[in-house]
Amino acid sequence: LPMMHVLDISWFTACMREGRPVAVETRHLIQDAFEVLAEFYEFNEVEGPCLAFRRAASVLKSLAWSVRRLGATEGLPCLGERSKSVMEEILQSGRSFEVEKILSDERYQTLKLFTSVFGVGPKTAEKWYRRGLRSFSDILAEPSIHLNRMQQSGFRHYGDISRAVSRAEARALGNIIDEAVRAITADGAAALTGGFRRGKEFGHDVDFIVTTPEVGREDRLLTDIIESLKQQGILLYCDYQASTFDQSKLPSHKFEAMDHFAKCFLILRLDCSRVDGGLNSVEGDSRGWRAVRVDLVSPPVDRYAFTLLGWTGSRQFERDLRRFARSERRMLLDNHALYDKTKDSDDSARPVRLISNAWGREARRSERDKG
Ligand code: ATP
Ligand code: MN
Ligand code: MN
Repeated sequence: LPMMHVLDISWFTACMREGRPVAVETRHLIQDAFEVLAEFYEFNEVEGPCLAFRRAASVLKSLAWSVRRLGATEGLPCLGERSKSVMEEILQSGRSFEVEKILSDERYQTLKLFTSVFGVGPKTAEKWYRRGLRSFSDILAEPSIHLNRMQQSGFRHYGDISRAVSRAEARALGNIIDEAVRAITADGAAALTGGFRRGKEFGHDVDFIVTTPEVGREDRLLTDIIESLKQQGILLYCDYQASTFDQSKLPSHKFEAMDHFAKCFLILRLDCSRVDGGLNSVEGDSRGWRAVRVDLVSPPVDRYAFTLLGWTGSRQFERDLRRFARSERRMLLDNHALYDKTKDSDDSARPVRLISNAWGREARRSERDKG
């Protein structure tokens, strides 16, 4: 380790594990610095530099080697002048003046705290900050503030849902969702997606795609699942959004991060007894349960492959993939379809077949059966 790192007490204690210093790779320091900068610009609604730092962070994340000299990053994409100067400062001194200034800024700290509540975005956080509110107790004690249902749940379950969800917990939730689906329709299925599908050990929520092998029958699936969770007494919060998917309106030419499929954002009660090895929370274990955020999306099965691709993430990977499709392949990719823009107008209305999984095979078989 460079000597100056070891001498920096706050840095040193931050990477002590069981009393032993663990080498924090400089690359991770730089990556974190980029994320802070991106968030700072997001809070200030400056999109350009926000995306630039996000991209720079994800480039570093993808490297298989450690960064020791600025020269070594020559030729890497998405590293602009500003990213490089932050990187150089950290390589030389182990810290970035600019990032430290942001981290100690009251506005940044407050917005970071407020947006950590489920249902509170940068706009609401900013509004509360401008009114002089600085803490959760400030917000909860302010009579003129009206919290919507989502924010109320966000505060109520704050401790639980800000604690990471473990893989064992995700598996237990997978069983719960799977059982609910199968009780509704024997050939329906739930597939794990999001961060856990990418192999992450922990997540902020658990994401599932639920569907049936016959197009159209997914229509009532989500509302039936919600009803079942309610019957089981484990539905703590539910924000259901009905499908607005309209095949005839495809492709949508404007960039859409969201899709039009039926989906719901839930908070579920996960009982300790359902999780191998117990819950990822000490209080939860003594209480016997914890609250967990769960997202469900329910596309028609012929859109399954695109939904799976879109919901697997990460958000940055999805952005890059869409950009690649557009600029390198002249194709349009979203959660609904992949379109070939080089084909004539008739053809371009038809999605490129990208079905490469069991669901797809099922769908093609049933299409064939129908002749
Ligand atoms: P984490 O472990 O923090 O949950 P994650 O990658 O699973 O990480 P999510 O926010 O759960 O993050 O999102 C998973 C994926 O689903 C992302 O790729 C995101 O683009 C997509 N996604 C999330 N919400 C929606 C939505 N409302 N509409 C369309 N896609 C969404
Ligand atoms: Mn997720
Ligand atoms: Mn999610």
